Amino acid sequence: MDDNDPKVKRKVRTLTMRIDRSLCIGAATCVAIAPKAWALDDEAKAIILDSVEEETDETLLEAAKGCPVMAIFITDETGKQLYP
Ligand code: SF4
Repeated sequence: MDDNDPKVKRKVRTLTMRIDRSLCIGAATCVAIAPKAWALDDEAKAIILDSVEEETDETLLEAAKGCPVMAIFITDETGKQLYP
C-alpha cells in the first residue's frame, strides 16, 4: 500500500491523518475509540475508512493518542504535527 493511498493518508477537514503500518501492531485501540475512522485489514493492520468524516476531530485525536505504538500521525492545515 503506497503512502498516498487514502487508506493510509487522508485529509479530514483541517486534519491530515496518516498511519505508519510498519509500526501498527493491530492492537485495535483506534478501532474501539473511532470505529467510523479505523478498521483492521486482512494483515491485521489499521486502515482509514471512507466513513472517517463521521468522527469528530476530538475523537480522531483521541484515537491517535490511544494507539500504544504511536503509529497514527495527525497534522493540522499548517503542517504542524498535533500528534504524536
Ligand atoms: S491503535 Fe495503533 S497499533 Fe492498534 S490498530 Fe490502531 S494504529 Fe494499529
